[in-house]
Amino acid sequence: MENVRDWCISRQLWWGHRIPAWYCDDCGELIVSRQVPTKCPKCNSSSLRRDEDTLDTWFSSALWPFSTLGWPEETVDFQTFYPTDVIVPGYDIIFFWVARMIFSAIEHTGRLPFKKVLIHGMVLDSQGRKMTKSLNNGIDPLEIIDIYGADALRFSLIYGTAPGNDMRFREEKVEAGRNFMNKLWNAFRFVLMNLDEDRDYSDVTAEMLEVEDRWILHEAHYAIKDVGAYLDKLELGLAQERVYQFIWDLYCDWYIEFVKERLHQGGKSGRAAQKVLFDVLQLIIKLLHPFMPYVTEAIHGYLDLEGLLISSSWPRYEEYPTDDEAESTMTCLMEAIRAVRNLRADYQLPSAKKVNAAVKAEDSVAQRLLDGEDMLSRLAGIGGIRRMSEAETLEDGVSVQFPGGELLISMRELVDVEEEIHRLQEEEERLKKEIQRSEAMLNNQNFVERAPAEVVNNERAKLERYQGDLKQAAERMKTLRTVL
Ligand SMILES: [Zn+2]
Repeated sequence: MENVRDWCISRQLWWGHRIPAWYCDDCGELIVSRQVPTKCPKCNSSSLRRDEDTLDTWFSSALWPFSTLGWPEETVDFQTFYPTDVIVPGYDIIFFWVARMIFSAIEHTGRLPFKKVLIHGMVLDSQGRKMTKSLNNGIDPLEIIDIYGADALRFSLIYGTAPGNDMRFREEKVEAGRNFMNKLWNAFRFVLMNLDEDRDYSDVTAEMLEVEDRWILHEAHYAIKDVGAYLDKLELGLAQERVYQFIWDLYCDWYIEFVKERLHQGGKSGRAAQKVLFDVLQLIIKLLHPFMPYVTEAIHGYLDLEGLLISSSWPRYEEYPTDDEAESTMTCLMEAIRAVRNLRADYQLPSAKKVNAAVKAEDSVAQRLLDGEDMLSRLAGIGGIRRMSEAETLEDGVSVQFPGGELLISMRELVDVEEEIHRLQEEEERLKKEIQRSEAMLNNQNFVERAPAEVVNNERAKLERYQGDLKQAAERMKTLRTVL
């Protein structure tokens, strides 16, 4: 803001604040006034003519931080909100707008108009080009909102952005926003269906909480802390991502799945689950509100909570107790569940098929899995779990690693060994034929030289894939034969 110079503020435009200056036709006097003058103060003539020009757009825009709050009157809004906190302009108008707001505010109010300036990038089209009329590659936000909703569009504009960087507009990002909204909505519907009519859980004490309850509250503590820290730094992309991860992964995909059975069983444990589900639901709509204001406000309304979400206070992490023990236990269980699920997917096990497992780990870790047998059963299809000593071995055991230990599952549980070997043999035959065909093509000079490079590269990639698959099938057969 150095070298601020005079600037011509009049424009010959139809649109804008008209310049408040009048000329006397009789004596030539120039009158500048807030009120429309009726007489010339010098010669008393009433033959006055207003200047035709308007103020430069940026002169008017420079008044924005204080004129919107009622200035020059000392209104309550002006006294409460001025100077403002953050202004969020694009980098293309730093001098046009931001600089002018600063000197205009100093001149008229004696104070700076804001404390921070967050400069954002431009929204480009999906190919990284500027949106222009000549390219006709602009997006009408209202059309996108009609299809996906305003929250989904807003989500997509924050998704993966870093301050100051340009971003590409992709409809898939808006779709991701809508999917997230649906995920939250379904979770909300599920929770609402499982709560008592009065939603009064004042009888639930800390002693009634199970390990997964203590875990999600621990996670809530850190989610609030992280989101707050990112918002303070104006890292909106990271803040939104953290909220997204907490809601989608931890609350929806894990916690709700963990407590389903308890809700079904009822009793004290069921009530504790209801309370924690309800508490954390209220928390997540607050955390998400800056990023998806409409859907969260709607949920707040359906829950009959007091006031409006937009004017409620930001959550305090101090109110959510941390619990490192619960965190370690649940991490261990979740990693084990994830690993078993991957194994099941590899062997294409039907979801109803239960498998037995043995755990090899030090005492405290093994105990965590034994205590979590019910969750392992429901979420990973483990039929039964037993402890196994370090010295013991399982001859046809397939090992599933998780931090701190391993689970061993008998191959015979996963697969009909003979049938699988037969299937793999057929697969091997097929792959060998494909490799022969592909190699013949690539050895044909005529093809390699004449076909488009893309087609040739494609064929090379295919060949590589066949060879990889063949190797994998051979290894798998080798393992299976040891079991026979
Ligand atoms: Zn005059």
